[in-house]
Amino acid sequence: MEDLFGHHISYLRVSVTDRCNERCRYCMPEEEQAWFPKDETMTYEEMARVVRVGATLGIKRIRVTGGEPLTRPGIADFCGVLTQTPGIESVGISTNGTLLAKTEGGLTLAEKLVRAGVRTANISLDSLDRAVYQRTTSRDLLPRVLEGIDAAIQAGFDSIRLNCVLMKNQTERELPALVDYAAQKNALLRFIELMPVSTQEVLREDNFLPVATAKKLVEQTTGPLIEEPDFKTNGPAVYHRVSSTGQRIGFIGAMTNLHFCETCNKLRLTSDGKLRPCLGSYLEFDLRAVLRAGCSDAELAAFFQNVVARKPKEHDFRHNYQPNRRMIAIGG
Ligand code: SAM
Ligand code: SF4
Repeated sequence: MEDLFGHHISYLRVSVTDRCNERCRYCMPEEEQAWFPKDETMTYEEMARVVRVGATLGIKRIRVTGGEPLTRPGIADFCGVLTQTPGIESVGISTNGTLLAKTEGGLTLAEKLVRAGVRTANISLDSLDRAVYQRTTSRDLLPRVLEGIDAAIQAGFDSIRLNCVLMKNQTERELPALVDYAAQKNALLRFIELMPVSTQEVLREDNFLPVATAKKLVEQTTGPLIEEPDFKTNGPAVYHRVSSTGQRIGFIGAMTNLHFCETCNKLRLTSDGKLRPCLGSYLEFDLRAVLRAGCSDAELAAFFQNVVARKPKEHDFRHNYQPNRRMIAIGG
């Protein structure tokens, strides 16, 4: 599938829930805590069908996300269905890490995911300081996240990425510890600029830390970072290598990188069944209604193609974007 601006669509983010056991300031403001009713949430069977039809149209990679995907019972089995879908080459998971070390039937959830064929785990880690972590996520769960990261390493994912959302007056102090920790755990560290997805308020001058500043701060402890334009994961991260150690660090600059959207290859399926062509646009299309009205696979495929045709050239975050859905209800 190709849109009007030459974006080749091969990647689908599937959000399996809008629920979460944390309350990150930038994702789910504490005062807004209404969940989707159960009957509005897509069943695993419905989501698997969407992926199966998407795969016939060129979707090759899936990332399962949320909310916190590991809070939904049966998540590893669902991932197993996705990894077995013809045409799907890789399935990854995005998680806050708090439940990766939880055991079910003698296996950790991390092990169950790896056995189901999940290849990459993106784990959020904004801070290694327990008090700062608690302030950011409103939960004192840092020790469980660190156990979760160790469980993920033991389980044997092909790749573990640690995602840190940049926050001014906070992340600056965290950088050296995060860089060291990622090196020690052989994980790929990525710094993400705050986006005004859930609330405009996060983008205030006193909260926003651009990736360019973060890069300079990292260089103060690591020495020069050398850009590696040819190294890509699936998304828009720009990677650099620490020249002295070879460690790779990614920077995701949705707000300041003006080329951010040029290589976009994604669609998003929300847990209430809306297909969204872009994270930073109001546009969303009610796939659940079409599915539950009994559409055929051919109609579902046509729906996908119509959504791709409406994909905007770029996100709207720099142009007075007004949040209409919290990040937690879209799927990051
Ligand atoms: N609960 C999982 C987690 O925390 O990784 C998966 C869902 S979360 C919405 C996915 C990613 O979106 C996380 O890395 C999170 O830090 C990021 N995120 C959430 N709100 C954001 C915002 N306003 N700006 C930038 N990144 C954000
Ligand atoms: Fe939950 Fe992830 Fe959002 Fe934090 S970023 S509130 S962990 S969904």
